[in-house]
Order: sequence, then C-alpha cells, then structure tokens
Amino acid sequence: MSRAQPGQAPLRLAVLGATGSIGLNTLDVVARHPRRYQVVALTAHRQDERLFALCQRHRPRLAVMADAGAAARLTARLRAAGLATEVAAGPEALVAAASRDDVDAVMAGIVGAAGLPATLAAARHGKRIMLANKEALVVAGRLFMATVEAGGAELLPVDSEHSALFQCMPPGYRTGRRPEGVRRLWLTASGGPFRTWPRERLQGVTPEQACAHPNWSMGRKISVDSATLMNKGLELIEACWLFGVTPDEVEVVVHPQSIIHSMVDYLDGSVLAQMGRPDMRTPISLALGWPRRQPSGVEPLDLYALHGLDFEPPDVERFPALRLAREAWAAGGTATVVLNAANEVAVEAFLDGRLAFTDIPRLIEAALETCPAGPAQDLDGLLAVDAEARARVRDHLGQGGRRHGP
Ligand code: NAD
Ligand code: MG
Repeated sequence: MSRAQPGQAPLRLAVLGATGSIGLNTLDVVARHPRRYQVVALTAHRQDERLFALCQRHRPRLAVMADAGAAARLTARLRAAGLATEVAAGPEALVAAASRDDVDAVMAGIVGAAGLPATLAAARHGKRIMLANKEALVVAGRLFMATVEAGGAELLPVDSEHSALFQCMPPGYRTGRRPEGVRRLWLTASGGPFRTWPRERLQGVTPEQACAHPNWSMGRKISVDSATLMNKGLELIEACWLFGVTPDEVEVVVHPQSIIHSMVDYLDGSVLAQMGRPDMRTPISLALGWPRRQPSGVEPLDLYALHGLDFEPPDVERFPALRLAREAWAAGGTATVVLNAANEVAVEAFLDGRLAFTDIPRLIEAALETCPAGPAQDLDGLLAVDAEARARVRDHLGQGGRRHGP
C-alpha cells in the first residue's frame, strides 16, 4: 500500500477517539503540518459538540459517533453550519472508519476494550496503526499481533514508554519481533499521585485526587490506572506483545520526574534511554511522521532545569495491580481479558463514587480468581469473555461494593 513520503501526497488519517486527550493531542500536531496530513475521519463516543468543533476545524469526510443520539445531533449541527461531513453511528461505523480505502493511518485513541474492534480492523486492512489504545493489546494481544502480520500493517507505539522502547531498539527494528542483543527492558512509571502516601490514607482517596496526575494530563480512566499502577500492569503486557518478550524480561522502575520514558538494557552493558518532557505530542508526532522527525509543539528539554532523576522499585504491597497483571499474564489465555474487564468496571465504579480506591485491586483479584479463563480466541470469543467478566464484576459490586469517603 502507498504511504505519504516527503514531497508526496499527504498521509490520510482516521483519528479514533478524536475528542479525548490522545485525539486532541494528535490533531494539535496534525494542525502544525497541514501539507503532510489530511484528516479523513474523526470519531467519538457521545460528545457531539466537541466533535462538531473538530469537524469545523479539520473538515473530515466522515464523522462517527458511537452513540446514535449524539450522531443525530451532530448531523443537525453540521447541516446548520453548511458542512458536508458525512455522519455515521454505532460500533460498526467505527470499524468502517478504520477500514476505509482512503485512510492510510489510524490513530487508535479510544479508551478501553471498546477500541478493540476498530483497531483490529485497521490491522486487517494493512494500515499504519498508531497505538495508544493499550487495552486492545491486553485483551487480544495474540490475535492482534497475528492480524498485524497477516494484514501487512505497520504497528507504531504511541504510549510514551513503548515509543521510548521502540526508539531505543536496534536499527531496522519492527514491532512484534524479539530484538537481538537485549537483556531486559526498563519500563518507567511515575508512581502516580499517591506514590508517597501511606497505605491508610489510600482508602479515602477521591476521584478528583486520583485524576490529578503530577506529570501528565490524561483522560480520567488512564489517570486512575496511573494512580493504582494498573496502567503499568497494562503497559507491561503491552510491552510483551509489542516487543516479543516475557514479563521476566521487563523491569518496572518508578521514576517520579517522568523525563526518561523507558530504557533498553543490552547484553554488552549499554542502557539506551529516551528522554523528553512528559508531553504526548512527542510520541504522537513520531508515530505520525515515522521514520521522520518533525516539530510537535513540545518545548525542548532544559537539562539545567532538572534537579536530578530518581529511581526506585515499585511498592506492590500498597499498589498490588502490577502483581495482578503479572499473574494474569502467567495464567495465560483469556486471563488478561478478565483483568482488563474487571479493571474497567472497577475504575468506572470508583469514578462514580461507588467503590473505594483500595477496593479496585481487590475487585480485580476476585475476578481473576472466579472468572473462568480459557484459551485465547477469535474476536467474538474474546468479546464474550469480556462481557461475561464485566457482568460478574458488576454483580459482585452490587453485592459488596462500598462507597468511598465517610
Ligand atoms: P479520553 O477519555 O481522554 O478519550 C477517550 C476517547 O475515546 C474519547 O474521544 C471518547 O469519545 C472515545 N470513546 C470512549 N468510549 C468509547 C466507546 N465506547 N466507543 C467509541 N469511542 C469511545 O482517553 P485518553 O486519555 O485519550 O486515552 C485513550 C487511550 O490512549 C487509552 O487507551 C489510554 O490508555 C491511552 N493512552 C493515553 C495517554 C494520555 O496521555 N492520555 C497516554 C498513553 C496511552
Ligand atoms: Mg504510558
């Protein structure tokens, strides 16, 4: 398939999850290079007003809303403004947007397992996939990597740690292959907003406190994941699929400044690190432009303004999520589907004030113990396991869930 080269036609984009943190950062970079990129399709869940504003700005051919009511409102807004953008609704329309012939590259920026079918469709259709939606790999790693290979897709990580690891890989490296000469991967974690909090204080954590990340500005779900360290657990699994390694070869290190985004430790004693400000526009810009570098709007790193870089091991007693992710990988098959589904339900309940912060990992652990995990399957099979796990966890929540706070 053809992809834009310097001086050639623009790279034609579908941005899935355009109204989210990743989507908006993507469009920010894209707007800096109007001749290099053309926005063909934008998608969102139900924020029609926000998607409308993005349509006005980027003039896509297609706008998709997962929610049908929001799609109707978006259509009315577009027509009133005299814009010709076609509107489609529903999960199938997300898949269609990622599969279009006039799309070269897909930003997978939907949060959660909801992004899996469209991201998988991009793989099947041989697109450049800029992968932010880590849950897709946690739920369907084997199927997804096989589909990338069979579809001839180009898989580029957007998660900052995985972009860092990718950039530190040997020349010519392609995702999905085990890199040569590597001893281990160092996956850095900020430690989240509660890194220094004693265990007793964690019980009463509020959603607002959990979403106030010290270094990164992100969507609410990933912010809570960062606070529980489940984000690092999901990223550990993501790294295993992207780089063909096992969890034993991935060392998680807490680095509170979030300046080093991850490191590759080579057999000869070299450790290659990628550094930069904690701003997602850097890894997004690299995935858009790969293998070229281009301005992304990110300010240069001022080394003299740094007051040291610290490293410490993660505390799995206070933050058990990392252990749960390792256990789910070790259990194999669909255990990571259960891990992800339980986490999504638990985080949602926490954000709604129906679950205490410290009960998030408890609920996930209970789900891993009680939900049957079979062999990895096709998409329908995986989605069925996902739905079953969600139903069980909701059931469990209904019986024993507690409100946070007094
Ligand atoms: P967000 O909540 O800010 O945005 C999510 C986007 O997905 C929105 O556009 C929303 O409309 C859409 N969406 C949500 N549910 C949907 C559904 N059911 N169907 C269709 N669309 C739906 O999330 P985010 O922070 O941008 O994160 C997106 C993904 O990128 C996540 O997988 C996250 O882990 C990953 N990621 C994010 C960051 C970051 O800095 N935000 C960094 C690394 C990885
Ligand atoms: Mg990350």
